[in-house]
Amino acid sequence: MTIADTVGNPPFQPRDHRATPTELAGRVIAITGAGSGIGRAVALACAHHQANVVLIGRDAARLDAVHGEIAAAGAPEASIAPLDLEKAVARDYDELADAVRERYGRLDGLLHNAGLLGTLSPIEHYDVPTWCRVLHVNVTAAFVLTQVLLPALKKSEDASVLFTASGVGRRGRAYWGAYAVSKFALEGLAQVLADELEGISHVRVNTLNPGRARTAMRRQAYPAEDFNQVPLPETLTAAYVALLGPASRGITGRAFDAQSASAGPSGSGPAVSGSPASSVRSSS
Ligand code: NDP
Repeated sequence: MTIADTVGNPPFQPRDHRATPTELAGRVIAITGAGSGIGRAVALACAHHQANVVLIGRDAARLDAVHGEIAAAGAPEASIAPLDLEKAVARDYDELADAVRERYGRLDGLLHNAGLLGTLSPIEHYDVPTWCRVLHVNVTAAFVLTQVLLPALKKSEDASVLFTASGVGRRGRAYWGAYAVSKFALEGLAQVLADELEGISHVRVNTLNPGRARTAMRRQAYPAEDFNQVPLPETLTAAYVALLGPASRGITGRAFDAQSASAGPSGSGPAVSGSPASSVRSSS
């Protein structure tokens, strides 16, 4: 999209998008970490807007539960694709890609949502094995999954790859360690991939920072925070639907936020409301 395209038009703002009931009809959208937190909420929202959702995750019982919720709502049938991003080997990725190709023939959306927080600690003392786990799950696994699913994405007439960002992956902040570095890496991965695919495919690539959301990860990062003041993941899905669906056609290589700055601190992290676990630890 060029500047000329936007002259006279308001800038594209996915969080303000109001999707039609059938906006994602006929689209196949895969979501990692779909069994809980934001991933679950986005999976339900995509199904609500009539997408066929591929639920990827490591916990079969949680994926089954989301599958059941989608069925109970009368939405298009979802698929379950068990994949532990920490333990998966090449064969596991290939099997998942084969299953998507056999069942659907293509993929229209891929949301990289699964993530690990790791520990909050100064770089000077950061645990090396934890660093490797976080970088592996948050970055390397997302890279490999994208790579094996690109043939299916290229078969779509309008495909979207969306990486989950964080405020601490756009402006570094003390003690966020491997998590922050992994989110910076995802911004880089998205920019490189967007540049490679622009003009030669119908695959767009963007990042989305959900901002603070009431999930297990948020609780781990901010144990002392008033959890009831943190937005529910269900309230943040508009931007996801916009960026995974036709509303964002032609938009690539950009970084978005699911909440406005006035909605409160963004990222998995800023130390405005509640103390991050790192502060708790460093003061002890
Ligand atoms: P949750 O901890 O609730 O969700 C993380 C998801 O990642 C879970 O579904 C979890 O699966 C999955 N996951 C973790 N490790 C693996 C693995 N090895 N293999 C497969 N799946 C795995 O946190 P959120 O919903 O908050 O996080 C979702 C995304 O949003 C993350 O990328 C996070 O960085 C980002 N984010 C969150 C913010 C927040 O305030 N909550 C703020 C900014 C960014 P399981 O259900 O099995 O645990």
